[in-house]
Amino acid sequence: MTPDELAQMRALLLRRQAELIEMGDLAIEPKAAEVAERPDEDAQPLTEMNQVIASRRNADRTRELRGISVALRRIHNNPDDYGHCEECDDPIPRGRLELMPGAQYCVRCQEARDPSRGGKRKHLRDFE
Ligand SMILES: [Zn+2]
Repeated sequence: MTPDELAQMRALLLRRQAELIEMGDLAIEPKAAEVAERPDEDAQPLTEMNQVIASRRNADRTRELRGISVALRRIHNNPDDYGHCEECDDPIPRGRLELMPGAQYCVRCQEARDPSRGGKRKHLRDFE
């Protein structure tokens, strides 16, 4: 990446980082008022589902923030490494980085590490 591109990515990372921090933690516990409004037991499964979703989103956000600080450190210390997959060292496509500036892996390695996230392939070999 050229120094200009790196500066651009750095700005993107900082903006995304600020956004994520500003969002804060999602409420996982239902507010007392909401519980009082819907005392019926039918609401319970929905509440539990919302809690699961909220805690998953918090985990995703924490993970993304961690990725962003790793990326910022890398741009600072080893700018040549930024934008390369940590696993296979392939360049991560620019479009992916613009969507997820903190991405540490290319799509293939990400899916291999985390097959539950939309990847249908279970093994790297399935690509060949
Ligand atoms: Zn890779």
